[in-house]
Amino acid sequence: MPELPEVETTRRGLEPHLVGRRVVALDVRQPRLRWPLPRELYDSLPGQRIDGIERRAKYLLVHTEPGSALLHLGMSGSLRVLPQDTPAGTHDHVDWRLDSGHVLRYTDPRRFGYQLWQPHGETHELLAGLGPEPLSDAFDGDLLWHLSRGRRAAVKLFLMDQAVVVGVGNIYASEALFAAGVHPKRAAGSVSRERYARLAREVKRILAYAIRRGGTTLRDFISPDGLPGYFEQELFAYGREGEPCKVCGAPIRAIVLGQRSTFFCARCQR
Ligand SMILES: [Zn+2]
Repeated sequence: MPELPEVETTRRGLEPHLVGRRVVALDVRQPRLRWPLPRELYDSLPGQRIDGIERRAKYLLVHTEPGSALLHLGMSGSLRVLPQDTPAGTHDHVDWRLDSGHVLRYTDPRRFGYQLWQPHGETHELLAGLGPEPLSDAFDGDLLWHLSRGRRAAVKLFLMDQAVVVGVGNIYASEALFAAGVHPKRAAGSVSRERYARLAREVKRILAYAIRRGGTTLRDFISPDGLPGYFEQELFAYGREGEPCKVCGAPIRAIVLGQRSTFFCARCQR
């Protein structure tokens, strides 16, 4: 599943090819993505010049004068800029024809992604109520500490709550908790201010690193499957059940929290 670093890498890859270009037409081969392509997208986007491309959480916002296309890659979606005559495959559902002679092609085997429309001056309901960006100054240990007081939910679920901070997915939450030495099941309200300061620093470090790696490993803006931008051998906890902890040698354990696999070292994380 594309996580925040892959979406940010996609944004950076697309930006020079999209900004300043005009969308000539939409070629839709399969309108039924997670949600059907809305009428407003067909009506509003063609003819518009792209003024910018922004990432918010795992959404991409492609800004034009009357509004913004809101794109989400779902579980298996990817976006590429290709020459217009590139033949479309089975899973190439939507093309935006650009005035550059290229298309922005959306490919998604599982069709959990979507393309929606946000009129200028409005905030789409999917974007309302989101917490701060993890790499912004608004996100720090004090924020986590304040928001977590009195909360008995597991700290990992608290960290993955989009109303607390956006875009800390399962892999990155597991790795940040390991790096900060915090047990994923610990009640969020029982983690000290100092430990939250460390946890917030580790979240930023790990995400920034993954974005840097993504920027050098992705080609043609495709997010590869698996763990794009973050090499498996660099993981300390995620996906390592039964393997020795790289710090203390104890076996990494796996539990299910909020229906997601969670990996941790019972010796290093308290
Ligand atoms: Zn350990």
